[in-house]
Amino acid sequence: MKKTFNLIATAAAGLEAVVGREIRNLGLDCQVENGRVRFEGDIETIIKTNLYLRSADRIKIVLGSFPAKSFEELFQGVKALDWENYLPLGAKFPIAKAKCVKSKLHNEPSVQAITKKAIVRKLQAHYARPEGVPLQENGAEFKIEVSILKDQASLMIDTTGSSLFKRGYRTEKGGAPIKENMAAAILLLSNWYPDKPLIDPTCGSGTFCIEAAMLALNIAPGLGRSFAFEEWPWVEADLVQEARRKARSEIRQDLSLDIMGTDLDGRMIEIAKKNAQAAGVAEQIDFKQMRLQDLRTDKINGVIISNPPYGERLLDDDSVSQLYREMGQTLAPLKTWSQFILTSDEAFEQKFGRQADKKRKLYNGTLKVDLYQYFGQRVKRQTD
Ligand code: SAH
Repeated sequence: MKKTFNLIATAAAGLEAVVGREIRNLGLDCQVENGRVRFEGDIETIIKTNLYLRSADRIKIVLGSFPAKSFEELFQGVKALDWENYLPLGAKFPIAKAKCVKSKLHNEPSVQAITKKAIVRKLQAHYARPEGVPLQENGAEFKIEVSILKDQASLMIDTTGSSLFKRGYRTEKGGAPIKENMAAAILLLSNWYPDKPLIDPTCGSGTFCIEAAMLALNIAPGLGRSFAFEEWPWVEADLVQEARRKARSEIRQDLSLDIMGTDLDGRMIEIAKKNAQAAGVAEQIDFKQMRLQDLRTDKINGVIISNPPYGERLLDDDSVSQLYREMGQTLAPLKTWSQFILTSDEAFEQKFGRQADKKRKLYNGTLKVDLYQYFGQRVKRQTD
């Protein structure tokens, strides 16, 4: 089987650089592209990136790329790749995804069918099976993806399984949750550090608070879940266990954090508490039911992160305008606090009453949103 792999970490639009930074922090070289970050590594790299990356969607193995303007070229190109180094006899290998963009070949179901046929042919030859008899597929699953972009086909195997944003701790999520990896990315983009107070005044199911606590305590985000590669017979179970053991040993036990999540809706607070419990960070977060309009604090140099209701999702326009105005009034006195607010409302700044220091375009699923960033004033020391 293979020793080194060409890999990509897929990322939501706008978050590629954050994923790239995380990959470099794991000691790997990488190239940041649209929607993905490319890197290389061995099986331990696959384990490590799945286990530790907070902001990525998935880790995929790239088997190869080649020009494919016709079905014949696609068939021959797919067949020429070294599938036998990945797929053992008996493997299930659904062509889970085909995507054609700006290419001669555009019929995705046909692209899927040809890809399947070419891999079957390759494996029949390699494992000396007769061509007329279908391959048994009753073993571990390898999800194959084919993408054809401007007549260039790329063949990939997904190593992750359900997307990395699914950490496993969120059992209930309420009406409009933010994805866990997006919440983590926003925290990584913010100027929050574990020694600063953090408040999410519209915490819903608690995602920002929980991701912040996990980040601070150095809890690997994938510790509570499993991955597709764990089923593969050529991935040694010992290596995976060792990586998990190491990740557990790196969890910080010595920190006490100042993280608070509040929400108008008492049911959401119950859900947030349950999720924090499942994530192993319940003791580090103070969740309570409160209207954000009632938020007061004497603390300084903290960070507010909030994903308030937006028009499209939860409230009508007048209520949104009023909520944002009152939010602006409530947060205005917190001059030393940095404030990061994620909303799809393009008139947010006007309603909130202040121009953001910085804006960043992101996508929450398919919804275009902006992260409005307000940086707190540094508290000057008194000099005599
Ligand atoms: N980031 C959250 C989702 C936030 S949705 C998550 O990941 O689950 C917006 C939340 O704002 C909802 O839970 C809603 O109950 C809350 N909310 C609406 N108006 C509020 C108010 N005036 N004060 C506090 N919370 C409010």
